[in-house]
Amino acid sequence: MSVSHDVVIVGSGPLGMAAARRLAERGASVLVLEQGAAIADPPGSHLRNSEQFLKQPDTYLPAATAHLEFIDDTVDQDALPGAAVTRAIGGQGVIWTNLCPRGDALWDAMTDKKWSERYRLAERYLEVQSDRLDRSVRQQKIGAVLNDYAGPSGRRATALPVAGRFRDDGLLHYTGSFDILNAGNGVSDRVTIDHGRVERIVTDGHVVRRLETETGPVEADTYVIAGGAISTPQLLYHSGIRPKALGRYLSYHPLAVCQIVVAPEFCSDAGVADVDPRLQIRPGGRAEWYTLVLHDVSPFTPEGEDAEIASNRLVEIQSICPVDNEEHKRAVFHEDGRVTFDVPLSDADLGRMTGAEKEAREIASLIGRLREGCDPAWMPFGFAHMTGTTRMSALDNGTGVADYNGCVWGYDNLYLATNGLIPTRMAVNPTLTGVSLAIHVADHIAV
Ligand SMILES: Cc1cc2nc3c(=O)[nH]c(=O)nc-3n(C[C@H](O)[C@H](O)[C@H](O)COP(=O)(O)OP(=O)(O)OC[C@H]3O[C@@H](n4cnc5c(N)ncnc54)[C@H](O)[C@@H]3O)c2cc1C
Repeated sequence: MSVSHDVVIVGSGPLGMAAARRLAERGASVLVLEQGAAIADPPGSHLRNSEQFLKQPDTYLPAATAHLEFIDDTVDQDALPGAAVTRAIGGQGVIWTNLCPRGDALWDAMTDKKWSERYRLAERYLEVQSDRLDRSVRQQKIGAVLNDYAGPSGRRATALPVAGRFRDDGLLHYTGSFDILNAGNGVSDRVTIDHGRVERIVTDGHVVRRLETETGPVEADTYVIAGGAISTPQLLYHSGIRPKALGRYLSYHPLAVCQIVVAPEFCSDAGVADVDPRLQIRPGGRAEWYTLVLHDVSPFTPEGEDAEIASNRLVEIQSICPVDNEEHKRAVFHEDGRVTFDVPLSDADLGRMTGAEKEAREIASLIGRLREGCDPAWMPFGFAHMTGTTRMSALDNGTGVADYNGCVWGYDNLYLATNGLIPTRMAVNPTLTGVSLAIHVADHIAV
């Protein structure tokens, strides 16, 4: 395996690819090592762009979740039965649903100006936009009702950004992990992507000397671990890098979904196609959750009289509830390589879920009715958006795994690019923030 690269990145998900692009833009030669195989054609592109899912969008979610490898889906809710990884070229960035809001709980790893600059870059890398949504009848009419509803709590309904390009036929081309690299002019020449599972990071004092892979050692000047919020700390632990905060302060999103049959006055006329709406009410005041109203993917299989409803009459409500970062909420890494979870929800965490579900039901009754069999359903705990497992901290005082530049405390050339770096209780989907952080980390690596 090649040893002549400036930087080796472990993992080809969106964060790994964003770090690779940024480093290549700065002139570095980069090797990306990915343990998984291709699950999309071309490799690393978004699975959802295939003809099958464009023609039959309802078949997408089961096909995507078939690529989730659950850690243990038989455990009780504190042990996170929904926690899963995806080993694939492009990671979960080939199956995600591409919702890309900016973060709501930023911390002082960079100035506000730098956060804005890096968010703008991340939005460019991911092709984030919400341009066409004003053409949607449901977007306009439901948006007006949501604004009246959210106004008294100091919140607003706004367009929900998505990572993708609207095609001429009105359908969305979803951004996959490798689009991040391919859209960067000429940078792909400086990035090599190889198949390889990294077994161990080999250190000598404050320095990483090499990675041990299934096919032999790999050396570089600098190493970036971008293996996702579960596998990244797992690899550190297995390599004997075990700071006190590793796996602790874990946060994730309990996520409820319901589907609504929208009243006809909010919809386009029967038989007239409508751009699918994407609306968000960001957290604010005492409403510490994130409510989305959109027509995207649904986990339900409705039956009976509601089985056949025209697509332009449907929306889903997604209720996303952040979990407080507390030291005792944790992933536990075992000597035999296993990971287990212990994340008891507090009364405050549970209170947010109650509030968010109440809000979903109220919105449903304002714009239509719940589709039969599609009442708010909580996805298995741990399913969505794990953060905090390798959190950043301002000081090396046991509350963080990496410094504010993503460099692992105590090591000179070992960096992380994962949502696990996020140290705060973020209510919104994390990937755009994670990609911004990956860019931030890449900017601090000497090339
Ligand atoms: C169904 C679904 C829908 C989602 N929708 C959204 C959304 O709408 N908005 C949003 O913000 N987020 C969403 N997410 C979350 C989003 O996909 C993740 O935030 C994102 O993929 C994280 O990127 P990553 O690069 O950190 O990790 P990953 O995408 O998990 O990629 C990590 C890669 O590293 C590889 N790897 C790990 N360890 C090793 C090793 N030792 N050696 C070699 N390779 C290794 C893995 O095989 C994997 O391919 C969704 C996730 C799912 C599953």
